[in-house]
Amino acid sequence: MTSLDSALAVSCENLVHVYGTPGNEVAALRGVDLTIDPGEMVALLGPSGAGKTTLLWHLAGLLKPTAGTVEIDGRVLSGLSSPALSSFRLREVGLLLQNPGRNLLANLSAMGNVLFAQAPTRRSRKVKRRRAADLLERVGLAHVAHQVAGLLSGGEQQRLAVAVALANGPRLLLADEPTSQLDPRSAADVIELIQAANVSLGTTVVAVTHDAEVAAALGRTVTIRDGRVGAAGHGGREFLVVGKDGTVTLPPDLMDVFPPGSLATASRAEDGVLLRRVTPGSVDEDLAHPRVEARGVRGDGIPPEGS
Ligand code: ADP
Ligand code: MG
Repeated sequence: MTSLDSALAVSCENLVHVYGTPGNEVAALRGVDLTIDPGEMVALLGPSGAGKTTLLWHLAGLLKPTAGTVEIDGRVLSGLSSPALSSFRLREVGLLLQNPGRNLLANLSAMGNVLFAQAPTRRSRKVKRRRAADLLERVGLAHVAHQVAGLLSGGEQQRLAVAVALANGPRLLLADEPTSQLDPRSAADVIELIQAANVSLGTTVVAVTHDAEVAAALGRTVTIRDGRVGAAGHGGREFLVVGKDGTVTLPPDLMDVFPPGSLATASRAEDGVLLRRVTPGSVDEDLAHPRVEARGVRGDGIPPEGS
């Protein structure tokens, strides 16, 4: 089997997640549609509270959707039995939670943590040790291999968590802010390690990040805003995304043109849609000047000529 045969596709359809109890609900995801190709690397961006962590937990099968589906390699996660789901998580997913310490067994050594993570594999003890030593070396932790994880610094714990997440050679790596506590050099090492897994195993990568360098290294960006896919980026340019139901999230720098609750008209323009604010009761719409023009963008990301 070549690496690309084993790469794993991810898709979410109208994924909705509501936390809390009746009368006290928080809608964290409000209909996320997202398709990630096998072996693709995607950075999830967006402000705090947008729903990034919730989305990542769904991709790991750790939450049940309020509505909609998560499909990994053709399997709808909410339809799997709990043994099948556990096996999926143990054997196919590398998960890096937002708080590095939560990924580790505090009383085990750094080496012990990377060995423990390989328990579900059929590798011999010798192979496991070699792989653990190699991973620790690559995240710059060889010198603390025998120190207890709970006593490592925040940055060291984060690098160890990356080594743990990659220990099984996961087909899907889900990482929540994997470089949040690292200096630029350590962050670059972590990115390099993730890229190497992507190249050698075809690992599909989804990483939440606030770091522009991480986002650039992963290539494709998806911005989550208020529980929806708000924008998507390719090659450093960012585009709005039209949802299945026609919804579009305005970029934050245009929000002043359309304060929440604004009324607007949408009309066909030559190469897109013209959105105009309307003042209720005003007879002449043209007096309401603020407007946004949306131009059509071809699927290849190149705006049509003349734009
Ligand atoms: P992000 O990772 O983008 O900062 P989260 O997915 O953590 O966003 O949170 C999305 C929304 O859901 C936020 O409003 C947050 O307060 C809420 N939320 C997250 N976890 C819980 C929870 N366990 N119970 C209730 N609300 C939650
Ligand atoms: Mg988060």
